[in-house]
Amino acid sequence: MKSQLSTKGKRDDAPPTFIPLSPRLRELLEANKIASHFPIVFGSGAVWHDMQFECLSCNRVLDDDAVRGFVSWPAPKTAVVEAAGVCKNCNLVTSFFYRLHSDMRVTAPRDGKWVTWQQQAPDSALGRLVGWLSSLMPWRNK
Ligand SMILES: [Zn+2]
Repeated sequence: MKSQLSTKGKRDDAPPTFIPLSPRLRELLEANKIASHFPIVFGSGAVWHDMQFECLSCNRVLDDDAVRGFVSWPAPKTAVVEAAGVCKNCNLVTSFFYRLHSDMRVTAPRDGKWVTWQQQAPDSALGRLVGWLSSLMPWRNK
């Protein structure tokens, strides 16, 4: 899902057209802070302590308070993180969806396929990785 400001049928100097947020994105944005779900602890003892979420547009790390969503456990060795965050800087919503595995792999859908990364240090480059994986939605207040 790659969405961005739509300029279809507009002149260049026209204000951008905002795409309405999907019901799921609204649900995510109204959920608890994603940080409240961390640390994510697996039965094996593996731990994901925390995670940074970056705005896909400006690459700023989003405030903990601004990133909300759910963590679910489809299997004991797999946690699914689905979240969305509003960037105060550019007023855009970045959405995040990925699976964390107990062996510190990250898998996520990209261009219709599931891809895998091995994360050696959960605190290092994951935020950037996540940002790269994410889709971007224009945000407007209700
Ligand atoms: Zn931003």
